[in-house]
Amino acid sequence: MTALMTACTKMNEARLPDYVVCNPVKTKDVPSMLRTPAAPVLIPFSEQDRQDIDTLSSKFDTEENCYGLAAVQIGIPKRIIVFSAKADPETKIWRTDLTDTMQKTVWINPKFTGVEETGYHEDYEGCFSVKGVAGLVKRYKKIKYEAYTLDGVLVTGTAEGFLARLIQHEIDHLDVVLFTDIAKEIIPIVEYRQMRDAAVARDIARKIKLCLLQHLKPFYSIGIIHWLILGH
Ligand SMILES: [Zn+2]
Repeated sequence: MTALMTACTKMNEARLPDYVVCNPVKTKDVPSMLRTPAAPVLIPFSEQDRQDIDTLSSKFDTEENCYGLAAVQIGIPKRIIVFSAKADPETKIWRTDLTDTMQKTVWINPKFTGVEETGYHEDYEGCFSVKGVAGLVKRYKKIKYEAYTLDGVLVTGTAEGFLARLIQHEIDHLDVVLFTDIAKEIIPIVEYRQMRDAAVARDIARKIKLCLLQHLKPFYSIGIIHWLILGH
């Protein structure tokens, strides 16, 4: 990237709004933006709506480890979300229910209903609007959704696993619910990251062990034969 491009990127990022955040470690106060139901967006979209969608989408792109954002998190009180659940092998290590995937998607006026019959799943969540903690949250394993695309077209479907969790988390933001409101357990974010890193380390150790066993198999067989013939 040239110096000029880097400078332009930084200028664009500088224009993006900051996150609206609360800090449950320090105070129970939550900014009103996160506690006010987001307004539905009229279709066709206005010029301002399009600018707001672009702003949210750009903010999402600036984050390396972001799975989803809701417009209210950057101070836009509208029912717009952006998310992505890619088939990333590392994410699958600690998100074992990452089955359904979806490339980066922007939805307007999204809704979901839980599919009761398929039950629930508990997993940890974090959020750019909640500082310092992660929480163990019970969510529907499977949901039915409907939303409008960037072209103003209504889409419907079902989502399962981590993708369903992600969609529920983001739509909850539009309805003033933070994960900390419904979490069964809240832990320091540092502790959660340690758990995640430990899961990744265990997976690497397991793969190394499997690889070694495969490569040593011929020698292992020779060793057994040697022992059977010579008795030592
Ligand atoms: Zn969030």
